[in-house]
Order: sequence, then structure tokens, then C-alpha cells
Amino acid sequence: MTNIYGVTHKCLENYFENINEKKFKATQVFEWLYQKRINNFDDMSNISKRVIEKLKEDYSIHKLEILNKQVGEDVVKYLFRLDDNNKIEAVLMRHDYGNSLCISTQVGCNMGCHFCESGRLKKVRNLETCEMVLQILMVEEDLNIRISHLVLMGIGEPFDNYDNVINLIEIINHPKGIALGSRHITISTCGLVPKIREFMNYDKQVNLAISLHAPNNEIRNKIMNINKVYPIEEIINVVKEYINKTNRRVTFEYIMLKGVNDSIDNALELSRLLKGINCYVNLIPYNETSHIEFRKSSKENINNFYDTLKKNNINVTVRREFGSKVSAACGQLRSNYEEGI
Ligand code: SF4
Repeated sequence: MTNIYGVTHKCLENYFENINEKKFKATQVFEWLYQKRINNFDDMSNISKRVIEKLKEDYSIHKLEILNKQVGEDVVKYLFRLDDNNKIEAVLMRHDYGNSLCISTQVGCNMGCHFCESGRLKKVRNLETCEMVLQILMVEEDLNIRISHLVLMGIGEPFDNYDNVINLIEIINHPKGIALGSRHITISTCGLVPKIREFMNYDKQVNLAISLHAPNNEIRNKIMNINKVYPIEEIINVVKEYINKTNRRVTFEYIMLKGVNDSIDNALELSRLLKGINCYVNLIPYNETSHIEFRKSSKENINNFYDTLKKNNINVTVRREFGSKVSAACGQLRSNYEEGI
């Protein structure tokens, strides 16, 4: 049975029309689910008993189970159990500008980035839209907060689950849904070029981040399998198309890996690659894990890399380090849980 948390406002309107009810009931249902946050259909007190019985026949209304939670100073990491016993993670980060939540989009991931803990588990399945919406609702409910920024950068490649991700955005961005502004939502992709092209025609102003992590194909081939399918020049071309079409700035994510991609020469090459593109680079200190041989770059290398980009007029930030004490590398909480650590 379809979980109601995965149904868009538009689909609910169609549903009510098909059962000869007024479309505005979709708005009433959304208000109960996302504004009043009820947990069962019987609490929808402005909807007739007859319609509630019909909703119960056609939809389920249930949430996720919080299996494990690790709390750090400014970070809370969640492990959720799904109905089929698969496990996914979400990470809440408290910034001075608000609460940002990073959610998963798949169980496992097939993209095979070598530095990534999540990619050690091959993709089992895509997450349903409801399973992504519920990561947000569960965290908001558990911590009694509102999420101000959403990042699709947890386990999985969002563009490998494109339709469900778009439905997620439709639900959470809807004014009667969670009403999260589209400019506060960021989709991060490892570079699925055809999907980036499709996404540039999507009408909402959602941010796009590209996991680049290397200034050339030689390095990128060694750390990201996807580069053999969509090499850097194809990514840069599609990003230019995307910017032309949408007028939106793109973020390039760059994980700093010691001795792999963090030299001054690498920074100079990256500056040349990105010259003239309306973008900024987010340097990410690597979260080391015991299962993977990569090590994080030294502070000095990160600073030198940052300075080199700056001197070459590339907008750049260094991501604040969150939660190395709370298994914050994506996928770590799940592996530790399963290995009993
Ligand atoms: S970094 Fe992202 S795309 Fe790459 S394997 Fe990990 S989850 Fe998948």
C-alpha cells in the first residue's frame, strides 16, 4: 500500500477527483500531515468519516524507526530502519544560519567512488519518495526543530533515483507541505551527465552540486568509477549548458585526499579548468574511515590549496568539519552498526 508521505499534492488532487471529491481536500490532507503533523488518518477532523475510511483503504500512514542516534556538539547522526529492514542514514548539522539535514536517496550506491564508505554496499534499491520525506519529518520531530536547508548528499546518487527525488522536492517545497524553499535544497551528483541535462529543464530553483574531487581525468579515473563513463570535459560542458540555461551558480565539491588531489599543481589545474564558470568550490576535509586507505589532507595543504584557488579568482570555501567523533563519514554509522562497533 502506498505510504501517504510519498504522494505529491498534485497526485492527491487527482486522487480526490477520481473518487468524486473536491480537489481542495488535498490541501487539507497536506496541512494535517506537514503542518499539524498528525500520525493517523482519524485525527484529520475536518475530513468526513467516509473520506477517511477511503484514505485508509488506499494509503498507509507510517513513519521510519530510529535504530541508532549519535549526538555530537553540532551534529546528530541518525540510522533509520526501513520497512524491509534495510538501513539508511541522515545527518543533521547545526550552522549559524540554520539546521541543515543531509539525507540518503538510495540503499547502497553503485557509483563506486573509492573514498566512500557508502559505496562499499552496492545499491540494493532506490528509496521511495516517502522514505526521503520521512527522514526530514523524523529528525524534525525527534529534535523538535525545523530543517532550514536540505542536502541530498547522503547514501546514494540522487540522479540515479531521479523521479522519486523530483517528487520529494515537489512535496517538501509545496507551500502546504514542509514549505522548504527550493533555494535551500541542494542536490549533489557525482556527474550523471544526461540527468544534469534533464534537471536543467526542471522549473524549481534547486541548487546543483557536482562531486568533482579532481582537476583531471587521470586522478578522477583513479578515485571515481563514474569518470570512465562521463569524463571531466563532458561534466564541464554540461555544467556550462546548465548555467546558461538556468542562470544558477553551481557548486563543485572537492574532497581533499592526502597525496592524491591536494597539491598546489592540482589547485592550479583546477583553477584553469573552472576559469570563467559561475561556480564556487567547496573543499571538504576527508573523514577517514578504517575500511578505506585514503587519508585526509593536512591543514597546511588545505590552506595552500584554498589560497591558490583564491589567487586565481575562484570562489572557494572550506567546509567546516563535522562529527569525526560521531561516524560522520557517509555510510559509517550503518557499517559500524552492522559490525557491532
Ligand atoms: S560518494 Fe556518493 S555517488 Fe559516490 S559512491 Fe558514495 S554515495 Fe555513491
